[in-house]
Formats: sequence, C-alpha cells, structure tokens
Amino acid sequence: MKKHYDLIAIGAGSGGLSIAEHAAQHGASCAVVESGRLGGTCVNVGCVPKKVMWNAAMLAHALRDAPDYAFEVSRGDFDWATLKRKRDAYVGNINDWYETYLKDSDIDLIRGHARFLDAHTLRADGQALSAEHIVIAPGTRPILPDIPGARLGITSDGFFELREVPRRVAIAGSGYIAVELAGVLNALGAEVSLFLRNQHLLREFDAMLREGLMEAMLDDGINILPMTRIAAVSRENDDKLRLELDNGQLLADYDQLIWAIGREPNADRLDLAKAGVETDSRGFVPVDGWQNTSVPGIYALGDIIGKAQLTPVAIAAARRLGDRLFGNQPERRLDYDLIPSVVFSHPPIATVGLSEDEARARHGDAVRIYQSRFTPMYHAFTRHPVKVSMKLVTVGAREKVVGCHVIGMGADEMLQGFAVAMRMGATKRDFDDTIAIHPTGAEELVTMR
Ligand code: FAD
Ligand code: NDP
Repeated sequence: MKKHYDLIAIGAGSGGLSIAEHAAQHGASCAVVESGRLGGTCVNVGCVPKKVMWNAAMLAHALRDAPDYAFEVSRGDFDWATLKRKRDAYVGNINDWYETYLKDSDIDLIRGHARFLDAHTLRADGQALSAEHIVIAPGTRPILPDIPGARLGITSDGFFELREVPRRVAIAGSGYIAVELAGVLNALGAEVSLFLRNQHLLREFDAMLREGLMEAMLDDGINILPMTRIAAVSRENDDKLRLELDNGQLLADYDQLIWAIGREPNADRLDLAKAGVETDSRGFVPVDGWQNTSVPGIYALGDIIGKAQLTPVAIAAARRLGDRLFGNQPERRLDYDLIPSVVFSHPPIATVGLSEDEARARHGDAVRIYQSRFTPMYHAFTRHPVKVSMKLVTVGAREKVVGCHVIGMGADEMLQGFAVAMRMGATKRDFDDTIAIHPTGAEELVTMR
C-alpha cells in the first residue's frame, strides 16, 4: 500500500533530519528516508569525529607546551586505536539517540535508498511513498581523481576507519579537509606531506589567513609541496605507496595517501529526471532563494545545492523552509550572506564576510583595513610560539565591518559573537565602543587602530 505524507526528506543528515523535525513540530506528517547511518556526514564522517581528533591534536600541542609552564611531563605514547574505539562509541550513541528521537517525534524512518518515481512519489525499501512536499537532502561524497591507482588512496571517510596512526602520509588537496587532517595527523605523530596543485592553501580565504596557516604548518614540520600534481599511484613490494608526479618525479615510502580534493553530489542515483528536477553542470541541484528546485513541491537543501557546505547552513535552511511550508511564514528563507565558519587547523581559522581582495574588488577605495599580529600571552612562555593574526575589513565613511578574519589560538570560539554584531550592521566605531575583555586574544578585535 502506498503511504502518503505531508513531507518526505531524502537523507537523514543535518538537513533532512532538521526539515522533518521542524515540519513535524508544525504538525506535518513526515518521513525520512536514509540509506546509511542516521546523522549523515557530520555525525558519522565529518564534524563530530573530526572534532574529537582535533581535540586530541590540541592536547598533543598542550603537552608539548606543558614543560614551558613548569610541568614535569613527557608526551608518552598516544593510543590511536583506543581513541578510535571511544570516538566510534560516541558516534554510535548519537546514531541511537536520533533513532529514538524520530520515533518519539512520530517521524517515520524508512531505511533504504530513495529514487523518484514521479514528482510526488518515491520508491524506497520496496515501497512507494508519496508526499505533497519532497525535500532532497542526500549530501555529497568525496571525489577520487581519474588517475591510475587513485583507489589505492583513501578519503576522509577512510581516515575515520584508520586503526593506527600512519607513519608517513601524503595528503592531496588544499581545502578545509586537507588542512584539518594534515594538522591532526602531524600533531598525533605522522610525517605529513601536503600536495597542493596550486600555490596556496585555502585559496578563496583572505590572504592573511592562508599565509599565516602556511607559515604555522611549515613551522610544525608539515612538508608542503605547492604546484604539485599526483599523476599515478602504485603499491610497492613492501606494501608502501609510490606516487608519480606529473613532472615524472617519483616519491616512495608512503603508508597512506588521502585524497581531500572536494566532494561531489549524491544526486546521480535519485532518478531526478523522472520528477523533472534539473541539475547543474556539476550534478548539484540548484535552488532559488526559497530552496525551490525547478519543480513545484520539490525542494533541495544542504550540501546538495553546491554552496556553503556546512552543517549549520543545512540546518538553518531546513528550519526556515519548515516555517515557510507549515508555519504560516511565507517570507521565511535563508540569507546565504555573512556565513561564519571555522577551519579546525592548527592554529584554527575563523572567518566571516568578505576577504580584503573581495571587498576591494566590490568597493574599491571605500575599503579600509585594520590588522593586527601578535604573540598571545599563552605563548610568551612557550618555546613554540604561534602568532595570532586578525583583520577587520570595513567599507564606506561609516566603516561598516564587512569582513572579520582571525587565525590563532582561540579563534574557533572567538568569532560567533562578532558574527552576530556584523549581521546587525556593526561599524568599526561600534567595535571601538565595546569594552575589551582583558587579558584575552579577542580584545584585540575591539582595540585595533
Ligand atoms: P549529509 O549530512 O551528507 O546527509 C545526507 C544523507 O543522505 C546521508 O546520510 C546519506 O547516506 C543519505 N542519502 C544519500 N542519498 C540517499 C538516497 N538516495 N536515499 C536515502 N538516503 C540517501 N561542517 C561544519 O559546519 N563544521 C565542520 O567542522 C565540518 N567538518 C567536516 C569534516 C569533514 C571530514 C566533512 C566531510 C564534512 C564536514 N563538514 C563540516 C560539512 C558537513 O558535514 C556537511 O555540510 C553536512 O553534513 C551536510 O548536511 P546534508 O544534510 O546536506 O548532508
Ligand atoms: P574544498 O572544496 O574545501 O577544497 C578542495 C580543494 O582541493 C579545491 O578547492 C582545490 O583547490 C583542490 N583540488 C581540487 N581538485 C584537486 C586535484 N585533482 N588535485 C589536487 N587538489 C585539488 O573541499 P574539501 O573536500 O576540503 O571539503 C568539502 C567541503 O566540506 C568544504 O568546502 C566545506 O564546506 C566542508 N567542510 C567544512 C569543514 C569545517 O567547517 N570546518 C571541515 C571540512 C569540510 P585549488 O583549486 O586551490 O587547487
């Protein structure tokens, strides 16, 4: 028998779970179809297990600094397998929690792979399911390059399967995942080489951030190889990996190769054509400002729309769509400007708004920059000082703050409140008029001259 709902979400990740939850809170009958584990990328192979590893890496850095604060400690062994077991158990608990939560919220969970039969009907788990509203939120998967031996490497998914710290690792890529995994592996004892096909890390970020991170990573002993393309991968007799670069150079003796070169949409096995939903040239599902796809009654949100691939963005889009469809708020929609984000590198990066280059391209001479670089008090005592750099990008006579960028200790927890101020239209004068909290790193953001 065909089951009918007010709303079905494809994918129980950050976006799909949130839209079903929010729609149900407004009284809609809802189902979520999930082919994998509840929680999607963020919970299982993204933000959550990554942050556990980042915390461990931060502890490794703190242990390195501890003798400088007169502690008699040595770093000792790090047991990767034990941390992995604890991390997996933590993630497993979140998976279980979601299952109970869906039951308690009267949201049907259908286990299986969803495909469209027509614009209002899906097939999953051997049954036909129909709905007034269908939300496409199947996320993305890591890309493997089309070169010989690419599958000898792993991706971020494989990183979370590792049972021990690899001795020598090659990481290809220059975005969020490449720098985050490079920092974690380096801090936890691996010898890391990072292969950039271009000159820069985090190419789209403010120059101060990418240059500061490059310097800190080199200081930490990460081997960064700019303008380098891996052309082929092979396994040697001793089980190690050998990389052939496009200039013919051979590099051997790697225990692991991690591809971190971007993610592609999970839209290809949804039979979108049967519903008439259009995709773009990269296979993502484009939407208008209200998450509408090309077909009325079908929406898309989260990573599948191909921009701002972040968990809070998926959740925010879902909540607003729920309010619009079932909460009698026809104008509710997500504004994709001023999205703050943190790169959990070592040191961390926090950024919101326009980079200096973007601001100058848009606003020319109306841009004024305030910048500061200093050694935080914590590192006044350590033999491994890591600098903090901050930048405010302002525009116009009122010096409205349109960009705020920080790299250094504490950046990850520093920016959320400043992002609120910027959403409210804060000017440099508002920053100046705010009393500093002393002694902190963040106080520099309200005392820049
Ligand atoms: P997903 O969470 O990917 O969920 C999609 C779900 O749909 C999956 O469970 C999948 O199994 C399911 N599915 C796919 N196709 C079908 C189908 N046909 N039928 C049924 N089910 C289907 N973001 C942050 O904000 N902060 C971070 O620190 C952060 N760290 C990250 C670290 C890594 C290593 C990675 C890979 C990502 C990270 N992200 C982070 C990004 C974040 O994980 C994503 O933006 C977020 O998970 C996107 O949510 P989503 O709902 O669009 O998709
Ligand atoms: P990104 O898009 O961030 O970075 C991938 C980069 O790899 C590209 O920008 C490109 O840089 C480079 N690249 C592309 N193809 C190749 C290739 N063939 N060889 C070498 N390098 C290549 O992708 P990620 O996979 O790192 O992350 C995906 C998304 O997940 C992120 O954009 C982010 O939205 C989200 N994420 C968020 C996190 C957070 O919030 N902390 C953490 C992790 C992921 P270039 O063109 O400069 O060479």
